[in-house]
Amino acid sequence: MGQLIASDLIAAIEEYAPLVLKEGNDPTGFQIGRRDKVVKKVLVTLDVRPEVVQEAIDNEIDFIFAHHPVMFRPARNLDLSDPQNKMYADILTHDMTVYAAHTNLDKAQGGMNDWLAAALALKNVQPFNVTDYEALMKLAVFVPETHADVVRQALGQAGAGELGNYQNCSFSAEGTGRFEPQTAADPFIGQAGQAEAVTEVKIEVILPAAKKNRVLKAMLAVHPYEEPAYELIPLANQQQPIGIGRIGQVDQPMTVRDYAQFVCETFDLTGLRLISNEPDKLVETVAVVGGDGGKFFPTALQAKADLYITGDVYYHTGHDMLAAGLSVIDPGHHIESIVKTKMTALFEEWRQINDWQVTFIKSQQKTDPFTFIFNAK
Ligand SMILES: [Zn+2]
Repeated sequence: MGQLIASDLIAAIEEYAPLVLKEGNDPTGFQIGRRDKVVKKVLVTLDVRPEVVQEAIDNEIDFIFAHHPVMFRPARNLDLSDPQNKMYADILTHDMTVYAAHTNLDKAQGGMNDWLAAALALKNVQPFNVTDYEALMKLAVFVPETHADVVRQALGQAGAGELGNYQNCSFSAEGTGRFEPQTAADPFIGQAGQAEAVTEVKIEVILPAAKKNRVLKAMLAVHPYEEPAYELIPLANQQQPIGIGRIGQVDQPMTVRDYAQFVCETFDLTGLRLISNEPDKLVETVAVVGGDGGKFFPTALQAKADLYITGDVYYHTGHDMLAAGLSVIDPGHHIESIVKTKMTALFEEWRQINDWQVTFIKSQQKTDPFTFIFNAK
Protein backbone atom coordinates (compact mmCIF):
# COMPACT_ATOMS: atom_id res chain seq x y z
CA MET A 1 0.00 0.00 0.00
CA GLY A 2 1.26 3.46 -0.85
CA GLN A 3 1.14 6.72 1.05
CA LEU A 4 -1.22 9.27 -0.43
CA ILE A 5 0.05 12.85 -0.72
CA ALA A 6 -2.55 15.63 -0.98
CA SER A 7 -1.14 16.75 -4.35
CA ASP A 8 -1.74 13.25 -5.81
CA LEU A 9 -5.35 13.24 -4.65
CA ILE A 10 -5.79 16.76 -6.07
CA ALA A 11 -4.30 15.65 -9.41
CA ALA A 12 -6.80 12.76 -9.57
CA ILE A 13 -9.73 15.09 -8.75
CA GLU A 14 -8.61 17.62 -11.38
CA GLU A 15 -8.29 14.87 -13.97
CA TYR A 16 -11.92 13.93 -13.28
CA ALA A 17 -13.20 17.50 -13.07
CA PRO A 18 -10.69 19.65 -15.00
CA LEU A 19 -10.24 23.21 -13.70
CA VAL A 20 -10.61 24.61 -17.23
CA LEU A 21 -14.33 23.80 -16.96
CA LYS A 22 -14.94 26.20 -14.06
CA GLU A 23 -17.37 29.11 -14.44
CA GLY A 24 -15.91 32.66 -14.51
CA ASN A 25 -14.67 33.73 -11.10
CA ASP A 26 -15.60 30.58 -9.22
CA PRO A 27 -12.85 30.10 -6.59
CA THR A 28 -12.95 26.32 -7.12
CA GLY A 29 -9.85 24.22 -6.43
CA PHE A 30 -7.24 24.31 -3.70
CA GLN A 31 -8.52 26.23 -0.68
CA ILE A 32 -6.49 25.94 2.52
CA GLY A 33 -3.50 24.02 3.86
CA ARG A 34 -0.57 22.08 2.44
CA ARG A 35 -0.34 20.19 -0.85
CA ASP A 36 2.58 18.08 0.43
CA LYS A 37 0.63 16.64 3.36
CA VAL A 38 0.38 12.87 3.81
CA VAL A 39 -3.34 12.08 3.69
CA LYS A 40 -4.67 9.19 5.75
CA LYS A 41 -8.26 10.29 6.33
CA VAL A 42 -10.51 12.29 4.02
CA LEU A 43 -13.87 13.81 4.91
CA VAL A 44 -16.32 14.32 2.03
CA THR A 45 -18.82 17.15 2.47
CA LEU A 46 -21.11 19.46 0.51
CA ASP A 47 -20.21 22.53 2.59
CA VAL A 48 -17.38 23.43 4.95
CA ARG A 49 -19.12 24.86 8.02
CA PRO A 50 -17.93 25.14 11.65
CA GLU A 51 -19.80 21.93 12.60
CA VAL A 52 -18.15 20.09 9.69
CA VAL A 53 -14.70 21.32 10.77
CA GLN A 54 -15.46 20.12 14.32
CA GLU A 55 -16.48 16.73 12.89
CA ALA A 56 -13.17 16.68 10.96
CA ILE A 57 -11.20 17.49 14.13
CA ASP A 58 -13.05 14.78 16.09
CA ASN A 59 -12.27 12.22 13.35
CA GLU A 60 -8.61 13.29 12.93
CA ILE A 61 -9.18 14.19 9.28
CA ASP A 62 -6.21 15.31 7.12
CA PHE A 63 -8.08 16.41 4.01
CA ILE A 64 -11.56 17.86 3.55
CA PHE A 65 -13.11 17.48 0.11
CA ALA A 66 -16.03 19.85 -0.43
CA HIS A 67 -18.26 20.72 -3.38
CA HIS A 68 -18.74 24.35 -2.32
CA PRO A 69 -15.58 26.47 -1.96
CA VAL A 70 -14.98 27.38 1.69
CA MET A 71 -13.39 30.74 0.81
CA PHE A 72 -16.21 31.84 -1.49
CA ARG A 73 -15.87 35.45 -0.36
CA PRO A 74 -12.38 36.85 0.28
CA ALA A 75 -11.49 37.41 3.96
CA ARG A 76 -10.89 41.12 4.69
CA ASN A 77 -9.19 40.43 8.00
CA LEU A 78 -8.38 37.47 10.21
CA ASP A 79 -10.18 38.69 13.31
CA LEU A 80 -11.01 35.42 15.06
CA SER A 81 -14.19 36.79 16.63
CA ASP A 82 -15.68 36.24 13.16
CA PRO A 83 -16.97 32.62 12.99
CA GLN A 84 -15.79 32.17 9.39
CA ASN A 85 -12.25 33.33 10.29
CA LYS A 86 -12.27 31.17 13.41
CA MET A 87 -13.08 28.21 11.16
CA TYR A 88 -10.08 28.95 8.90
CA ALA A 89 -7.89 29.16 12.01
CA ASP A 90 -9.22 25.80 13.28
CA ILE A 91 -8.47 24.20 9.91
CA LEU A 92 -4.89 25.52 9.93
CA THR A 93 -4.28 24.78 13.63
CA HIS A 94 -5.21 21.13 12.99
CA ASP A 95 -3.05 21.00 9.84
CA MET A 96 -5.95 20.07 7.58
CA THR A 97 -6.00 20.62 3.83
CA VAL A 98 -9.24 21.75 2.18
CA TYR A 99 -10.02 21.28 -1.49
CA ALA A 100 -13.23 22.17 -3.37
CA ALA A 101 -14.45 21.02 -6.78
CA HIS A 102 -17.38 23.28 -7.66
CA THR A 103 -18.59 24.38 -11.12
CA ASN A 104 -15.99 22.16 -12.80
CA LEU A 105 -17.60 19.18 -11.00
CA ASP A 106 -21.08 20.47 -11.95
CA LYS A 107 -20.09 20.29 -15.63
CA ALA A 108 -17.81 17.24 -15.60
CA GLN A 109 -19.02 14.07 -17.26
CA GLY A 110 -20.08 11.85 -14.40
CA GLY A 111 -20.21 14.88 -12.09
CA MET A 112 -22.88 16.64 -10.01
CA ASN A 113 -25.54 17.18 -12.67
CA ASP A 114 -25.13 13.68 -14.10
CA TRP A 115 -25.62 12.31 -10.57
CA LEU A 116 -28.79 14.38 -10.15
CA ALA A 117 -30.09 13.37 -13.61
CA ALA A 118 -29.46 9.71 -12.69
CA ALA A 119 -31.21 10.14 -9.31
CA LEU A 120 -34.20 11.55 -11.25
CA ALA A 121 -34.07 8.46 -13.52
CA LEU A 122 -33.78 10.63 -16.67
CA LYS A 123 -33.03 8.89 -19.95
CA ASN A 124 -31.02 10.02 -23.01
CA VAL A 125 -29.27 12.55 -20.80
CA GLN A 126 -27.42 15.33 -22.67
CA PRO A 127 -25.74 18.53 -21.50
CA PHE A 128 -27.54 21.83 -21.98
CA ASN A 129 -26.14 25.36 -21.83
CA VAL A 130 -23.10 24.04 -23.70
CA THR A 131 -20.00 26.13 -23.06
CA ASP A 132 -17.08 23.78 -23.73
CA TYR A 133 -16.09 20.81 -25.84
CA GLU A 134 -14.15 17.86 -24.55
CA ALA A 135 -10.77 17.38 -26.24
CA LEU A 136 -10.17 13.88 -27.63
CA MET A 137 -6.95 11.93 -28.13
CA LYS A 138 -5.99 8.67 -29.79
CA LEU A 139 -3.76 6.11 -28.14
CA ALA A 140 -2.05 3.45 -30.26
CA VAL A 141 -0.15 0.82 -28.30
CA PHE A 142 1.90 -2.15 -29.55
CA VAL A 143 1.41 -5.35 -27.52
CA PRO A 144 2.55 -8.97 -27.98
CA GLU A 145 -0.54 -10.89 -29.10
CA THR A 146 -0.61 -12.90 -25.85
CA HIS A 147 -1.40 -9.70 -23.93
CA ALA A 148 -3.74 -7.93 -26.38
CA ASP A 149 -6.92 -8.91 -24.51
CA VAL A 150 -5.71 -7.83 -21.09
CA VAL A 151 -4.51 -4.46 -22.47
CA ARG A 152 -7.82 -3.86 -24.33
CA GLN A 153 -9.68 -4.65 -21.11
CA ALA A 154 -7.54 -2.26 -19.02
CA LEU A 155 -8.00 0.53 -21.59
CA GLY A 156 -11.78 0.09 -21.51
CA GLN A 157 -11.93 0.03 -17.72
CA ALA A 158 -9.92 3.26 -17.54
CA GLY A 159 -12.47 5.04 -19.77
CA ALA A 160 -10.88 4.76 -23.23
CA GLY A 161 -12.95 3.63 -26.22
CA GLU A 162 -16.28 5.25 -25.35
CA LEU A 163 -18.19 6.36 -28.46
CA GLY A 164 -21.73 7.60 -27.84
CA ASN A 165 -23.70 4.65 -26.47
CA TYR A 166 -20.84 2.21 -27.11
CA GLN A 167 -17.98 1.25 -24.82
CA ASN A 168 -14.81 -0.84 -25.18
CA CYS A 169 -14.41 0.41 -28.78
CA SER A 170 -10.98 -0.27 -30.26
CA PHE A 171 -9.28 -1.28 -33.50
CA SER A 172 -6.57 -3.97 -33.58
CA ALA A 173 -4.22 -4.97 -36.40
CA GLU A 174 -1.46 -7.53 -36.36
CA GLY A 175 2.13 -6.89 -37.46
CA THR A 176 5.74 -7.58 -36.60
CA GLY A 177 7.52 -5.71 -33.82
CA ARG A 178 11.34 -5.70 -33.98
CA PHE A 179 13.81 -4.80 -31.21
CA GLU A 180 17.25 -5.62 -29.88
CA PRO A 181 17.68 -5.63 -26.09
CA GLN A 182 20.88 -3.96 -24.79
CA THR A 183 23.07 -5.43 -22.04
CA ALA A 184 21.30 -3.55 -19.23
CA ALA A 185 17.82 -4.58 -20.45
CA ASP A 186 15.56 -7.11 -18.74
CA PRO A 187 13.38 -8.11 -21.71
CA PHE A 188 10.04 -9.92 -21.43
CA ILE A 189 10.86 -11.59 -24.78
CA GLY A 190 14.36 -12.19 -26.23
CA GLN A 191 17.94 -11.89 -25.03
CA ALA A 192 20.52 -9.12 -24.78
CA GLY A 193 22.38 -8.51 -28.03
CA GLN A 194 20.01 -10.57 -30.19
CA ALA A 195 17.64 -9.01 -32.71
CA GLU A 196 14.08 -10.16 -32.06
CA ALA A 197 10.94 -10.24 -34.24
CA VAL A 198 7.62 -10.72 -32.44
CA THR A 199 4.00 -10.88 -33.63
CA GLU A 200 2.44 -7.82 -32.04
CA VAL A 201 -0.99 -6.24 -32.08
CA LYS A 202 -1.44 -2.51 -32.55
CA ILE A 203 -4.46 -1.47 -30.46
CA GLU A 204 -5.98 1.94 -31.20
CA VAL A 205 -8.50 3.66 -28.94
CA ILE A 206 -10.03 7.13 -28.63
CA LEU A 207 -10.09 8.75 -25.19
CA PRO A 208 -10.99 12.08 -23.59
CA ALA A 209 -7.80 14.13 -23.07
CA ALA A 210 -8.83 14.56 -19.41
CA LYS A 211 -8.48 10.78 -18.89
CA LYS A 212 -5.02 10.62 -20.50
CA ASN A 213 -3.02 9.94 -17.31
CA ARG A 214 -5.46 7.38 -15.96
CA VAL A 215 -5.59 5.48 -19.28
CA LEU A 216 -1.79 5.48 -19.72
CA LYS A 217 -1.32 4.30 -16.15
CA ALA A 218 -3.82 1.44 -16.63
CA MET A 219 -2.17 0.41 -19.93
CA LEU A 220 1.37 0.49 -18.50
CA ALA A 221 0.28 -1.54 -15.44
CA VAL A 222 -0.71 -4.57 -17.57
CA HIS A 223 1.69 -4.22 -20.54
CA PRO A 224 4.35 -6.94 -20.21
CA TYR A 225 7.20 -5.02 -21.87
CA GLU A 226 9.93 -3.16 -20.00
CA GLU A 227 9.62 -0.31 -22.54
CA PRO A 228 6.10 -0.35 -24.04
CA ALA A 229 5.89 1.48 -27.37
CA TYR A 230 2.87 3.73 -27.78
CA GLU A 231 1.68 6.90 -29.52
CA LEU A 232 -0.62 9.51 -28.02
CA ILE A 233 -2.11 11.88 -30.60
CA PRO A 234 -4.44 14.91 -30.16
CA LEU A 235 -7.47 14.68 -32.48
CA ALA A 236 -9.44 17.32 -34.34
CA ASN A 237 -12.64 15.18 -34.31
CA GLN A 238 -16.04 16.58 -33.44
CA GLN A 239 -15.89 16.64 -29.66
CA GLN A 240 -18.35 15.91 -26.90
CA PRO A 241 -20.25 19.02 -25.76
CA ILE A 242 -19.93 20.02 -22.10
CA GLY A 243 -22.47 22.18 -20.30
CA ILE A 244 -23.43 22.94 -16.73
CA GLY A 245 -26.92 21.37 -16.92
CA ARG A 246 -28.38 18.06 -18.00
CA ILE A 247 -31.57 17.41 -19.92
CA GLY A 248 -33.30 14.10 -20.47
CA GLN A 249 -36.60 12.24 -20.80
CA VAL A 250 -38.71 10.81 -18.02
CA ASP A 251 -39.59 7.12 -18.09
CA GLN A 252 -43.35 7.65 -17.86
CA PRO A 253 -44.88 11.06 -18.61
CA MET A 254 -46.52 12.49 -15.47
CA THR A 255 -48.02 15.80 -14.42
CA VAL A 256 -45.89 18.63 -13.05
CA ARG A 257 -47.63 18.14 -9.69
CA ASP A 258 -46.87 14.39 -9.62
CA TYR A 259 -43.29 15.06 -10.69
CA ALA A 260 -42.94 17.50 -7.80
CA GLN A 261 -44.03 14.71 -5.44
CA PHE A 262 -41.52 12.35 -7.09
CA VAL A 263 -38.72 14.94 -6.53
CA CYS A 264 -39.73 15.21 -2.84
CA GLU A 265 -39.46 11.44 -2.45
CA THR A 266 -36.23 11.12 -4.47
CA PHE A 267 -34.35 13.67 -2.38
CA ASP A 268 -36.19 12.99 0.89
CA LEU A 269 -37.49 16.58 1.15
CA THR A 270 -39.99 18.02 3.61
CA GLY A 271 -41.27 20.24 0.83
CA LEU A 272 -40.27 22.21 -2.24
CA ARG A 273 -41.24 25.34 -4.17
CA LEU A 274 -43.21 24.89 -7.39
CA ILE A 275 -43.35 27.63 -10.00
CA SER A 276 -45.97 26.72 -12.59
CA ASN A 277 -49.07 28.02 -14.36
CA GLU A 278 -49.87 24.49 -15.50
CA PRO A 279 -49.42 22.00 -12.64
CA ASP A 280 -51.54 19.44 -14.53
CA LYS A 281 -49.46 19.58 -17.72
CA LEU A 282 -47.67 16.33 -18.65
CA VAL A 283 -43.89 16.34 -18.21
CA GLU A 284 -41.67 14.47 -20.67
CA THR A 285 -38.43 16.44 -20.86
CA VAL A 286 -36.70 17.59 -17.68
CA ALA A 287 -33.66 19.84 -17.30
CA VAL A 288 -31.63 20.03 -14.09
CA VAL A 289 -28.91 22.25 -12.60
CA GLY A 290 -28.19 21.44 -8.95
CA GLY A 291 -27.96 24.76 -7.16
CA ASP A 292 -28.58 28.40 -8.02
CA GLY A 293 -29.34 27.75 -11.69
CA GLY A 294 -32.10 30.36 -12.11
CA LYS A 295 -30.09 32.27 -14.68
CA PHE A 296 -29.95 29.24 -16.99
CA PHE A 297 -33.74 28.96 -17.38
CA PRO A 298 -33.81 30.54 -20.90
CA THR A 299 -31.39 27.86 -22.17
CA ALA A 300 -33.48 25.14 -20.49
CA LEU A 301 -36.48 26.49 -22.44
CA GLN A 302 -34.45 26.65 -25.64
CA ALA A 303 -33.45 23.02 -25.10
CA LYS A 304 -37.21 22.22 -25.02
CA ALA A 305 -37.52 21.32 -21.34
CA ASP A 306 -41.11 20.96 -20.04
CA LEU A 307 -39.80 21.26 -16.53
CA TYR A 308 -36.66 22.75 -15.02
CA ILE A 309 -35.26 21.72 -11.64
CA THR A 310 -32.87 24.07 -9.87
CA GLY A 311 -32.25 25.56 -6.44
CA ASP A 312 -32.24 29.10 -5.02
CA VAL A 313 -34.71 30.57 -7.50
CA TYR A 314 -34.98 34.32 -6.94
CA TYR A 315 -38.46 35.92 -6.57
CA HIS A 316 -38.29 38.02 -9.74
CA THR A 317 -36.69 35.20 -11.73
CA GLY A 318 -39.73 33.11 -10.67
CA HIS A 319 -41.98 35.75 -12.28
CA ASP A 320 -39.91 35.60 -15.49
CA MET A 321 -40.16 31.79 -15.55
CA LEU A 322 -43.95 31.94 -15.21
CA ALA A 323 -44.20 34.58 -17.95
CA ALA A 324 -42.07 32.41 -20.24
CA GLY A 325 -44.42 29.45 -19.65
CA LEU A 326 -41.81 27.23 -18.00
CA SER A 327 -42.64 25.04 -15.01
CA VAL A 328 -39.87 25.02 -12.42
CA ILE A 329 -39.25 22.99 -9.29
CA ASP A 330 -36.95 24.50 -6.68
CA PRO A 331 -36.08 21.58 -4.37
CA GLY A 332 -33.48 23.66 -2.51
CA HIS A 333 -29.72 23.77 -2.97
CA HIS A 334 -29.13 20.97 -0.49
CA ILE A 335 -30.01 18.20 -2.98
CA GLU A 336 -26.37 18.61 -3.97
CA SER A 337 -25.48 16.68 -0.81
CA ILE A 338 -25.61 13.69 -3.20
CA VAL A 339 -21.91 14.63 -3.63
CA LYS A 340 -21.12 12.90 -0.32
CA THR A 341 -22.22 9.45 -1.49
CA LYS A 342 -21.09 9.78 -5.09
CA MET A 343 -17.68 11.29 -4.46
CA THR A 344 -16.92 8.86 -1.63
CA ALA A 345 -17.68 5.95 -4.00
CA LEU A 346 -15.41 7.45 -6.68
CA PHE A 347 -12.60 8.01 -4.17
CA GLU A 348 -13.01 4.40 -3.04
CA GLU A 349 -12.53 3.25 -6.67
CA TRP A 350 -9.40 5.36 -7.02
CA ARG A 351 -8.07 4.02 -3.71
CA GLN A 352 -8.35 0.47 -5.02
CA ILE A 353 -6.81 1.24 -8.43
CA ASN A 354 -3.87 3.16 -6.91
CA ASP A 355 -3.50 1.07 -3.76
CA TRP A 356 -3.62 4.20 -1.60
CA GLN A 357 -3.46 3.82 2.17
CA VAL A 358 -6.34 6.13 3.05
CA THR A 359 -9.88 6.12 4.45
CA PHE A 360 -12.71 8.19 2.97
CA ILE A 361 -15.67 9.09 5.14
CA LYS A 362 -18.92 10.96 4.43
CA SER A 363 -19.75 13.91 6.63
CA GLN A 364 -22.73 13.17 8.87
CA GLN A 365 -23.59 16.87 9.19
CA LYS A 366 -26.70 18.20 7.44
CA THR A 367 -25.61 21.62 6.24
CA ASP A 368 -28.99 22.77 4.88
CA PRO A 369 -29.52 26.16 6.57
CA PHE A 370 -33.30 25.98 6.01
CA THR A 371 -36.01 24.28 8.07
CA PHE A 372 -39.65 24.25 6.95
CA ILE A 373 -42.26 25.23 9.50
CA PHE A 374 -45.82 24.37 8.49
CA ASN A 375 -48.71 26.55 9.49
CA ALA A 376 -50.50 24.56 12.20
CA LYS A 377 -53.79 26.48 11.70
ZN1 LIG B 1 -24.10 24.33 -5.21
